[in-house]
Formats: sequence, C-alpha cells, structure tokens
Amino acid sequence: MSALTKNNMIIDSLEFARKSQEIYGTIAASDLPRLHDALFPETGELQYQLTGGLSHERKPQLRLRVQGILQLTCQRCLEAMDFKLDLDSSFIIVPDEGSMPLPEEEPEDEDYLVANVQMRIAELIEDEVLLGLPLAPTHSTETCSASAKLNTLKKVSPFAVLQGLKTGKR
Ligand SMILES: [Zn+2]
Repeated sequence: MSALTKNNMIIDSLEFARKSQEIYGTIAASDLPRLHDALFPETGELQYQLTGGLSHERKPQLRLRVQGILQLTCQRCLEAMDFKLDLDSSFIIVPDEGSMPLPEEEPEDEDYLVANVQMRIAELIEDEVLLGLPLAPTHSTETCSASAKLNTLKKVSPFAVLQGLKTGKR
C-alpha cells in the first residue's frame, strides 16, 4: 500500500492488477481539469482507492472507489449545492483494443480498460466522476431557493384568480 502524490499517480495497469496492488489518497477537485465547468466553485476533495486483483473469471481487474462532496450549480436557482459522490467501479484489463468485447456482447455490469504501462489514475478518476455527475443537478424542492420564490408566487395566485374572475364578469 502506498499513497501517491498527484505528480506520480501513474501505474502500469496490468502489473498493478496482477500484483494485487493498492493505492489510496485524496485528490483535489481542482486537479481534475475536465470537472471545472461542472463545479461551483472549484473546491472540494475526493478520496479514492484503486485496488488491483483478479475478476471472477480470473482476468486482471482494477476496482476504483471515489467518495467525496463536490459543489455543483443548481440548475433551478443557479446557486451552489452539495453533491455527495460515492462511486464504485470495476474494470477488466484487456491487452489491446482488439480484445475488447463488441458493444453488443459486453456484459452490462462490466467495463474494460486497455492495458497501459503509463496509466494516469487522475484521468480514470476524472472519467468516472464525470459519468457519475447528474446532467442537470437541482436542490430538492424543499431547499431550493427557486422553489421558495415559486411558493411566494403561489400564495399570491388566489388574488390573481379573483382578479381574473372580476374582469371576466365585467
Ligand atoms: Zn436550487
């Protein structure tokens, strides 16, 4: 077991799996450049754990777990919202592109990675986090300030209806 700094988070993925190695640590959200647009603001830290081993069919496999809280932008009120991330993914390591199963043959619960002697862990984390983020994150209706505004409007609405009736009668 070893904790790596972001500068040397590069592994030989096949060897890592075969030797059942493990790496864990924290990575700052600001070190994941492709997340920048999604985050509000660009703060937060993620805990990750990468474990090598063999799958049920004794194929080399990596398991990645990522947890943490990120701040996203609520698409309803455009204010910050906490998003709890809790990912757990496994990947079978295949020697080359040609060994990837065809999309229609790929079992739904399995992902594949082509063996890479210089695999960047941060990139794998980034891919998984991007897949794990909601497309249009919103606060729950109870906590969103946009729905609070909506409630105020609703309170006004009976008068508006009354107004409508009055003008309707004329
Ligand atoms: Zn909101």
